[in-house]
Amino acid sequence: MAYVITEDCVACGTCAGECPVEAISEGDIYKIDPDKCLSCGTCADACPTGAIIEG
Ligand code: SF4
Repeated sequence: MAYVITEDCVACGTCAGECPVEAISEGDIYKIDPDKCLSCGTCADACPTGAIIEG
């Protein structure tokens, strides 16, 4: 199950730099491509606002 980014995202970009497969794209809030996501949880651990959860 891919991880998802919730409305708590403040678009800081921390997660995008941590993702090993570059599944996270920029935007007003960031987005995870479910087809690329490995569900490793690295982004969720890195997120300063706890905005990333298991989908
Ligand atoms: Fe990338 Fe892992 Fe986060 Fe999926 S769970 S978006 S693979 S860092």
